[in-house]
Amino acid sequence: MPTLTIDAPLETVRGLGPQRAKALQEAGIATVEDLLLHLPFRYEDRTAFLPIASLAPGVRGTVRGQIRSAALRRTRVRGFSLFEALVEDGSGTIRVVFFNQPWLRNHLVRGREVILYGEVKPSRAGRRGLALESPQIEIPEKDGKDGRDGEPEGIHMGRVVPIHPRLPGLSPRAVRTLVHRLLRELPEVLPEPLPPGVAERRGLPPRGEALRAVHFPDAGTDALLLETRSTPAQRRLIFEEFFFLQLGFALQRAASDAGGRGAGQALQVDDPLRGRLRSVLPFRLTAAQRRVLAEIAADLLSPRPMNRLLQGDVGCGKTMVALLAALLVAENGLQAAFMAPTEILAEQHHRLFTRLLQGRGQPVGLLTASVTGPARRQVLAGLASGALKLVVGTHALAEEEVRFQALRLVVIDEQHRFGVAQRARLRGKGDHPDVLVMTATPIPRSLALTLYGDLDVSVIDALPPGRRPVATVVREATGRPRVHDFLRRQVAEGRQVFVVVPVIEESERGDLQAAASLRDRLQKEVFPGRPVGLLHGRLPAGERDEVMGEFAAGRLPVLVATTVIEVGIDVPNASVMVIEQADRFGLSQLHQLRGRVGRGGHESYCILVAGEQATDDARRRLQVMVDTSDGFEVARRDLELRGPGQFLGTRQSGIPDLRLGDLVRDREILEDAREAAHAVVADTRAGRAPAVLTAHLERRWGSRLGMIQVG
Ligand code: ADP
Ligand code: MG
Repeated sequence: MPTLTIDAPLETVRGLGPQRAKALQEAGIATVEDLLLHLPFRYEDRTAFLPIASLAPGVRGTVRGQIRSAALRRTRVRGFSLFEALVEDGSGTIRVVFFNQPWLRNHLVRGREVILYGEVKPSRAGRRGLALESPQIEIPEKDGKDGRDGEPEGIHMGRVVPIHPRLPGLSPRAVRTLVHRLLRELPEVLPEPLPPGVAERRGLPPRGEALRAVHFPDAGTDALLLETRSTPAQRRLIFEEFFFLQLGFALQRAASDAGGRGAGQALQVDDPLRGRLRSVLPFRLTAAQRRVLAEIAADLLSPRPMNRLLQGDVGCGKTMVALLAALLVAENGLQAAFMAPTEILAEQHHRLFTRLLQGRGQPVGLLTASVTGPARRQVLAGLASGALKLVVGTHALAEEEVRFQALRLVVIDEQHRFGVAQRARLRGKGDHPDVLVMTATPIPRSLALTLYGDLDVSVIDALPPGRRPVATVVREATGRPRVHDFLRRQVAEGRQVFVVVPVIEESERGDLQAAASLRDRLQKEVFPGRPVGLLHGRLPAGERDEVMGEFAAGRLPVLVATTVIEVGIDVPNASVMVIEQADRFGLSQLHQLRGRVGRGGHESYCILVAGEQATDDARRRLQVMVDTSDGFEVARRDLELRGPGQFLGTRQSGIPDLRLGDLVRDREILEDAREAAHAVVADTRAGRAPAVLTAHLERRWGSRLGMIQVG
């Protein structure tokens, strides 16, 4: 029999069947290796059987006994069945119940030996005693004979048992059986994808050993280490995962550095240009803005393409820095594109840039889904011919039909909302353009490097002068009348107010109706005789523009809005931000919303109204907002409380889907892996790494990142 190799396609694996292999392939599991990297998400210690007499409510464990009686019971609820068995082990008996699994009566018959694993509960039947509810079942093998599927003894019981995520056509138990067999059929020593010495130097086990230990831990393995994914075997696989991800980024960066730009793309800055840039500004830049602008300008002037992340708290003035960078490019006759996450924000940036650049012969184009017809054709033509140097838009900028004559700078605002593919597509419209990404959600460097690839980081760490911290309070729903009195007084003093309502999906009718009826109520009961506006993502662009325009011009004192106003909206006269059901928002989101006020010289307030259902935990979370106005601190707490997936909003974020590593928990391994990957790339020329590495990289990340082209 030829030995199995780790890169063998699953359809060649004995006994799997072409159909199942195909289903697995569709789930992204095409080879033996893919399957072996499908790791258990938890483990159950089934090393010892517990005497039934020793069981108590809440205990999780394995018992072994004989079925004394079994019956399928009818229940009063239609379509609901209950299978009940009594199991005895010599020390006592316990009731075992299963819901809606009538077929069990064919397996769990009187007299049969069974092994059960589950949690002990007080019996629901009202009788005294305990019950095991829907435990896992094993029927032990008869002497000398292999059990079902020809499994050898000891895969599912009498050990620390891995629980794998279910796969198409394969229960966790079937995955376990299959993985066990594959590990047995593979050679003891598996090919090592990491460069020589890298694992050894870190005291990490070789690959084969690690894979075996991760799927089927030895009896002595520390349960806590396993759960926290800190066994040497787990650390080895986490390291490997991070190493190849970072290698991909590093090679990409090296390749883009080596590619260089075509002639005619060099930028120049002289004093007259500096003067023109300065004259655009309505204020003096802060020292932090000047420092960051200098970093960006140095990148723009260098032949090496820029890949820079600009972090800065809400309201620190990132937009202005980006505008100056874009203008520098445009004044050199090249093009700059500014991509914002929402139409409202793109429209606002467009208004601002157009106003600041008025009369300077530098028109600014707007490109969103709502720009259609002749207006759209004009922008597209201007970009293609090079007549238009500056454009602001949404992800519409990344669409196929958009062509640039000489795209030199790409600015991406609120970066983590865009997917990897969108960013790559926009970048692909130029010849190694410089890329500046901006985010107001400060994130740890390790996370940034993994999200955005290999990049340099600039930080604006100070706010423009004259800002006052926004006084933040938490109010109960019952305190709303007092909140409304306060709003009335603010409006009477000429200030403006945002009232934000949670909307999960802008497409949800019900949610939008709630926003509309809140507007109506405020209008009738709190602000009779004054206009109250409504803004949400489903309004037609024209209407939205009008509402924002009215609010920005101060003619609309109160604006009820969904989180479409979360990022970037800039209305200095607004002094109060009320957030309804604030507990339904993440902390970073609340901080963004709060950043919409406190932009003028007025005393400003953020009122977080706790939902009636808010838990104590949620209230404690809101307290963080009261305690600090520092966005970095808020982000740190948020990340801690919610984990990176939710923190960044997994749906839109370009966060690569890691199988094992955790960007927060495993930061140190990530940094270590990153250094190791960079060491490899430093040893190679022009981003060409040894073929063994690139082949593995391609297998591991190629399709998932969709952006790594190497070698
Ligand atoms: P960010 O995008 O970083 O949240 P913005 O660029 O929107 O912040 O700036 C927030 C507000 O601060 C805007 O009204 C902007 O005009 C103003 N601003 C920016 N820089 C300065 C500065 N140096 N001095 C005074 N106001 C500034
Ligand atoms: Mg902004």
